[in-house]
Amino acid sequence: MTFVIPAAAPVSVPVLSATVGQSFPVRRIYCVGRNYAEHAIEMGFTGREAPFFFMKPADAVLVVPPNTTGRMHYPTLTKNLHYEAELVVAIGMGGRNIRAADALQHVWGYAVGLDMTRRDLQTEMKQQGRPWCIAKGFDESAPIGPVVPAAQCTWSANSRIELAVNGVTRQSSTLGHMIWSVAEVIEHLSAAWILAPGDLIYTGTPENVGAVAVGDVLTASIAGVGDLAVSIVEGVAS
Ligand code: MN
Repeated sequence: MTFVIPAAAPVSVPVLSATVGQSFPVRRIYCVGRNYAEHAIEMGFTGREAPFFFMKPADAVLVVPPNTTGRMHYPTLTKNLHYEAELVVAIGMGGRNIRAADALQHVWGYAVGLDMTRRDLQTEMKQQGRPWCIAKGFDESAPIGPVVPAAQCTWSANSRIELAVNGVTRQSSTLGHMIWSVAEVIEHLSAAWILAPGDLIYTGTPENVGAVAVGDVLTASIAGVGDLAVSIVEGVAS
């Protein structure tokens, strides 16, 4: 086949494993909205609703290799860039109408991610009943650490999910506070879309989201999965 324009390079995320140089190829990025009750409440909702989803383009990932600090350019058009620390599920086996009881067999691994959000634009889009794309799906909006194979992850409902800005803890919860568990998220998601290998699912953030500025360093961690560091820098994503 001959492409008439240069084909985009495949998007991939490094894998943390004994074999050096392995990567997880990214197909789609799904995100769960308001999946922790206290975060739903801070966003003005009750914390009791069926899961809902939005997407980011695959190339919105900002790959942060192990033991490095990623560099995210402060995005255009916003004055209120927010962090959201999230557990990311990496799908290894696809399917549709997957039952929660079978769902974890479809998971290849997990990662720590940030669902970066232009909160001012999100608020505006909500008020106008418009799509969230510009608030959620922009370039570099999905920083992610290495994908850790599921068998190497030791997270449980008691595992802490935390985010600090310049060393000061801002978000601190446990994965057990998710309203919809990983398995239930996969069940709901696969009823709406056919899941395929390479899909990432950002599973939602706990309470105390907040704004960051150029120069800030974000560190997110999930016990039993790993950690992620990102600095906010001036300039334009490319
Ligand atoms: Mn989120």
